[in-house]
Amino acid sequence: MQTNFSLAQLADADTVEAEKILRACVHCGFCTATCPTYVLLGDELDSPRGRIYLIKDMLENDRPASAKVVKHIDRCLSCLSCMTTCPSGVHYMHLVDHARTHIEETYVRPLPDRLLRRLLQIVLPNPALFRLSLVGVWLAGPIKHLLPGKLGGMVRMAPRRLPSPSPVDRPQVFPAEGPQRKRLALLNGCAQQVLAPQINEATIRLLTRHGCEVVVAEGAGCCGALVHHMGKRDQALAQARANIDAWSKVLGQGGLDAVVINTSGCGTTVKDYGFMFREEPAYADKAARISALARDVTEIMAELGLQEPVRASGLTVAYHAACSLQHGQRVLAPPKALLAKAGFALRDIPEAHLCCGSAGTYNLVQPVLAGQLRDRKLANIARLEPDLIAAGNIGCITQLAGGTETPVVHTVELLDWATGGPKPVALADSFP
Ligand code: SF4
Ligand code: SF4
Repeated sequence: MQTNFSLAQLADADTVEAEKILRACVHCGFCTATCPTYVLLGDELDSPRGRIYLIKDMLENDRPASAKVVKHIDRCLSCLSCMTTCPSGVHYMHLVDHARTHIEETYVRPLPDRLLRRLLQIVLPNPALFRLSLVGVWLAGPIKHLLPGKLGGMVRMAPRRLPSPSPVDRPQVFPAEGPQRKRLALLNGCAQQVLAPQINEATIRLLTRHGCEVVVAEGAGCCGALVHHMGKRDQALAQARANIDAWSKVLGQGGLDAVVINTSGCGTTVKDYGFMFREEPAYADKAARISALARDVTEIMAELGLQEPVRASGLTVAYHAACSLQHGQRVLAPPKALLAKAGFALRDIPEAHLCCGSAGTYNLVQPVLAGQLRDRKLANIARLEPDLIAAGNIGCITQLAGGTETPVVHTVELLDWATGGPKPVALADSFP
């Protein structure tokens, strides 16, 4: 695609990157067929190609974001299905991240939207605040159906149970069982440790059982993805810096084989730290080193090799490949191979490339489209009649569990169960 940025515009490193991405696009439109919002809405402006044109026009003309641009970019899930499909290697993720920052800097949203987004940006990355807000939601139980708009929708989507905080989510070191094979730092995350602390517990049991020392580093926390995808670059970079500092310290005190991540949405972002800090000399090298160390937990387990299962399962599992794992990180085979080795019978979900509608905060700020995508995903899953659903991302797990009676669990919970851990919480009343 031809571009017309001025020399003055190209003095900015982000514009240089945007130009490079725009020039790679040959308008072929292959990406439209696999874009969930285009599939639902059939509007070119809700396709990757249409959004690329909108972004090009906005950036080239140095325009503040218009309501039209914001509408169509806000509808983008950042699922990155378009990147998997694109034959020209267009890095849509970096382009849309840049556009979102531009929108935040140049567009004034209506007050209710601004307040809602600010609330999410403050609360979700902070486990203590998030927990407190969920307690508040339950106290509002009797009146929650009266609350208006997106806020009401969010309150009604809150999970029905609030688990206690887990002792594993504090800075500490978990020694390897038997001879140590790897030393790992675990990203124990933010929202996940509130909604499903059993996932970090299962991860630590699984990894230590397979000979890994696991470090939960002092000072590490939210990866920054939640606010990054809302265009809050400075807040995202501040959260990323805290993690880079925390893990670099661990790296310097005994080495690290990997930073292991069990929330694939976060994994995509941590693997991108090197790019995010490429223009910041004090962090560029450190960030690139951390990105190079970042691995999804199933990548690590594939390297380690899963121990023989200690119990027969035979349960049928519909494995939902989170977009961040299949498109963002291109980790496709390891989760399925590990579940099969653990004794589960896998069922392939039709339209597996389509997002479930979770997409970070998407299901909170775009509830209608998110609901349509969830219903479509669950209808595809229901046809398989699985015993349970597995996924590698807390957002997908929460999104899918809200619309089905079929238990939804994290892949590591199943691997842990199969190799000697307790039965996953979501299966407590099923499968004796
Ligand atoms: S990231 Fe997903 S929703 Fe956004 S344009 Fe690409 S395929 Fe469509
Ligand atoms: S598939 Fe790639 S090159 Fe073709 S229109 Fe989409 S982004 Fe552009």
